[in-house]
Amino acid sequence: MIIVMKPRASEAQVSGVIHRVESLGYRTHLSRGEETTIIGVIGDDRPIDRTQFELLDGVEKTVPILKPFKLASRDMHPADTLIFLNGQNVGGLQVIVIAGPCSVESRSQILEAAHAVKEAGATALRGGAFKPRTSPYSFQGMGEEGLQLLAEAREATGLPIVTEAMSPEQIVLVEKYGDVIQLGARNMQNYTLLNAAGEARKPVLLKRGMMSTIEELLMSAEYILAKGNSQVMLCERGIRTFEKYTRNTTDINAVPVLKQLTHLPVILDPSHGTGKWEYVSAVAKAGVAAGADGLIVEVHPNPSEAMSDGAQSLKPEKFAQLVKDVRRVAEAIGRS
Ligand code: PEP
Ligand code: MN
Repeated sequence: MIIVMKPRASEAQVSGVIHRVESLGYRTHLSRGEETTIIGVIGDDRPIDRTQFELLDGVEKTVPILKPFKLASRDMHPADTLIFLNGQNVGGLQVIVIAGPCSVESRSQILEAAHAVKEAGATALRGGAFKPRTSPYSFQGMGEEGLQLLAEAREATGLPIVTEAMSPEQIVLVEKYGDVIQLGARNMQNYTLLNAAGEARKPVLLKRGMMSTIEELLMSAEYILAKGNSQVMLCERGIRTFEKYTRNTTDINAVPVLKQLTHLPVILDPSHGTGKWEYVSAVAKAGVAAGADGLIVEVHPNPSEAMSDGAQSLKPEKFAQLVKDVRRVAEAIGRS
């Protein structure tokens, strides 16, 4: 960081700040301009709370230089992180597609959905067994039985399973039955859960909170990485804005911004991003054109009977068309 002194800061104030910085084990670089003196702090100063310097006599402000996320940053790790999933590298040349219902509802529903998305070309099957619902009276998911059905659908189709965990105990279960641990938007800043996902040995799909900034998403990923799990995929799933025609506003900007800031793969969720099945395909294509490494799409054999998120779920034939359209977009930008 750089500490900028007030225009008429005294010598005693400047040396007081230098003394304080050096007492914390950092070196300093002093630069005196015609009006302002600035003190550069040398070393990784991310652990220090900058406000403590702003409270010292004679200090005007502090300016951070290092990005607050270290392990997630492309500066530290220029090459793309690749996460192996069903014979493909997420984050590589191939754009992957995770698809399936919002919730696992029954054996026949998840098997039918699994066969349909596999047929259409999906890379992995999604389906929630533990559901984060706004209302406690809404369907909460089938729990462990749902996970067993997902494992059965993997047996039947060969598709790996992406499914959400809402607590550290559920992470243990998802690790047992599933292949990718999904952490939902509502839990993006649940630090106990992030730490537990960091200790897991399966890849994590971390969804952006609906009211979180891109930097907050990266800081949450940093928790998982700092605990030793390097297999993190980030997911843009729409943020809350004033717009009412859609459920959320898909932040397409986040895709190229994240690709620049981090080496982690970026997945786009056009289903939660729009909330309406009519717009899902268009936004999926936009996401791939913008550089997303994959999509996660809600598909239900019979959306009008879905127990959650039916309005944004595609029928299998519409999903098959989406895959065809997205393939052409991927090829247009040199991917497959
Ligand atoms: C989901 O994927 O069904 C889900 C609950 O997503 P989000 O956490 O993005 O709302
Ligand atoms: Mn859903």
